[in-house]
Amino acid sequence: MQLFHHYATELSDICSPVQPFPLSRPRVAMLNDDLINELGLQRNEFENDKILQSLFSDKGELQDKSIAQKYGGHQFGQWNPNLGDGRGLLLGEIKNSDGQLIDLHLKGAGPTPYSRHADGRAVLRSTIREYLAGEALHALGIPSSRSLCLISSHEPVVREQRERGAMMIRTCPSHIRFGHFEYYYHSKQTSQLDALFAFCFTHHFQDCASSHAAMLLKIVRSTALMIAKWQAYGFNHGVMNTDNMSIHGITFDYGPYAFLDDFIPNYVCNRSDHSGRYAFDQQPSIGLWNLNALAHAFTPFVEIEELKEILSTYEPCLVNEYQSLVRARLGLSISSLNANSNNGGDGDDTNDDKLANEIDNLVHEWLNILKDEKADYHIPFRLLSERLLLIKDRNYNALSDDFIDANRVRQWCVNYHEVINIVMKIDDLSWEQIQSRMLAVNPKYVLRNHLAQAAIAAAEEDDFSLCEALLEALKQPFSEQQGMAQFAKAPDTSSKGISLSCSS
Ligand code: AMP
Ligand code: MG
Repeated sequence: MQLFHHYATELSDICSPVQPFPLSRPRVAMLNDDLINELGLQRNEFENDKILQSLFSDKGELQDKSIAQKYGGHQFGQWNPNLGDGRGLLLGEIKNSDGQLIDLHLKGAGPTPYSRHADGRAVLRSTIREYLAGEALHALGIPSSRSLCLISSHEPVVREQRERGAMMIRTCPSHIRFGHFEYYYHSKQTSQLDALFAFCFTHHFQDCASSHAAMLLKIVRSTALMIAKWQAYGFNHGVMNTDNMSIHGITFDYGPYAFLDDFIPNYVCNRSDHSGRYAFDQQPSIGLWNLNALAHAFTPFVEIEELKEILSTYEPCLVNEYQSLVRARLGLSISSLNANSNNGGDGDDTNDDKLANEIDNLVHEWLNILKDEKADYHIPFRLLSERLLLIKDRNYNALSDDFIDANRVRQWCVNYHEVINIVMKIDDLSWEQIQSRMLAVNPKYVLRNHLAQAAIAAAEEDDFSLCEALLEALKQPFSEQQGMAQFAKAPDTSSKGISLSCSS
């Protein structure tokens, strides 16, 4: 594998060389063949003996120039300058087929200068959760870090209880966080801040032509798009501290995350988040709060008025994306409306506005029904898609039977039928075509916490077959697959809406 060390060499001032510290009885327990192929890597490089040697032997290629990065971050709104890679190392970068750098990062690699007396380890439970989440979000079209391989061990690691330690190699365009910029700005290390920006312009934001404003605009946009997707697919990150925010707008640093079970908008997946700062419905506004914190680091380069203007693009970008995703999930996207909202439009504005209003009313009422009934967030979307042709024949009970307030749902179906007919005429579509579009955006399989927990329980006993089966389902979440029915169900009441601790 051709490994680069741009960060380690060009930013040697702001990182520390650290070698991975082996775990006892390590073993490659999961290997991501899809990702290995996508990145043009050789599978044999990641097979057990080869990878363990490469990571832990003196001459190992992957430990030769590994480094821990220094950063800070706003944690639950409080500035903390004492952060950094406390248990993860950048092993090096590779290039993907587009020539773009991709980090190989080892999580759970042992102590670093930034570990703050913690053990530098990750537990098997949290590495499995991160592995599963990366694949699940990616398959839903939500940008995410992804794992190449998971190394299990018998090393005891103490959290709330004794657990098994593990490591994971994950990939991302880079591990540069909002907190990197915040740290070098607030600590007044100007040459380091300059070097960090120069690094980004050279390797990651080439199209910004060294314009700080253009770079921030790009980060604002990608963050808005990512969070819109979280909201549309019911994903609660749980720890949106600025040290967990990627400058590439990809989901990473998974902790006590959860996909919703019941639609409870203010659901909080993180048991330690007592104020609900990172509740599901707070994520869009926290995204802006975090971008605001990041924007401070741009003040030496961009005028305040321009920064404000850049930040003001966040909300419309997020709202547009969210709106078009939820409309699509309900089969209500119209190409002309999308075009109009994107470029001012040349259609009949009054009719378009009226139709857009009707569509939005349907979307709101649908979400209100789910919320009022505390219905599952995912299954009704899928049911609607699967039963669309019954609705076409005005068999509204086919949907309303699954709800408590059946009359309300039937009324919704009456309005829906009318609007779908308009959509079909405008875009020259059949009910069948609308149905196949809906099935392609409404997942049958969702990474719910109870599913992850069952897979983890088996893996703790060295049986990774449930992890692998779950992964297979999640990799094609929109296609019904044989033998996967267990992964399509909502949990029993007792396993719903589990909130997890931050310990990982
Ligand atoms: P997280 O909550 O995982 O985003 O971590 C917050 C900070 O604590 C980061 O700087 C981590 O590197 C560090 N950290 C978390 N867990 C450990 C650990 N077990 N050992 C050392 N550092 C850790
Ligand atoms: Mg983190």
